[in-house]
Amino acid sequence: MTTGIVFDIKEFTVHDGPGIRTTVFMKGCPLACSWCHNPEGQSARPQVIRGLAGERLAGQEYTAEQLAALLNQQVSILSDNEGGITFSGGEPLLQAEFVAEVIDLLDEVHILLDTSGYGSKRSFQKLLERSDLVFFDLKLIDPALHQQYTGCSNDLILDNLKTLGASGMPFVIRVPLVPGVTDTDENLAAIARTVNGLPGLIRVDLLPYNQAAGSKYQYAGMEFKPGYDETRSLNINLMPFERSGVKVCVA
Ligand code: SF4
Repeated sequence: MTTGIVFDIKEFTVHDGPGIRTTVFMKGCPLACSWCHNPEGQSARPQVIRGLAGERLAGQEYTAEQLAALLNQQVSILSDNEGGITFSGGEPLLQAEFVAEVIDLLDEVHILLDTSGYGSKRSFQKLLERSDLVFFDLKLIDPALHQQYTGCSNDLILDNLKTLGASGMPFVIRVPLVPGVTDTDENLAAIARTVNGLPGLIRVDLLPYNQAAGSKYQYAGMEFKPGYDETRSLNINLMPFERSGVKVCVA
């Protein structure tokens, strides 16, 4: 039985997809976004978090059977409330074998994959075919800027976006608005051009910068080095999307 590592399970959430949901945060992410507000999700290993309430370990290992059994206890109530289970992170694609095995063991329930899109095509397809809805992050279209601010190339992400578009799966594009980084007119226009016309696109959600992004780093024993001016006001420009006929919301 495959094992996986999870850094949090949030029960009965209303912000991680339709209806009432339970969100499983998979531990480990190949990206290192400067604005990441879940730094404990980046390392794939268990980590001690030292907070005001004392110490806790972020990173619980489960077999697929154990996690599915835990989630199955809530499936009927989630389904009754038009919700389901969201796999988020960190990055679920990094543990695609495990997540797929968990989903295969779940009772009938709506599955949402919340992903940065960074993973092998095989991993992406494995989880795509087991999902009902995808939340797909797009951060920066310019390859050099993506490398600079996330530590990774965006090649795999853009390839997986094409796969997603061709699949017919309904999906939402999520753009974290980071002042002076992702919120530039150029980047928003490039995102609008990239997603325009993709079958299955429901809308683009613009997510305003989380001013508390840096607050968890010290608890995880990590240093917050944003590399941009957090105090700069955000450019929330809907025009590139509206001009292209792409539905856009500020979440
Ligand atoms: S993709 Fe998400 S979890 Fe990974 S580093 Fe970026 S913001 Fe953090």
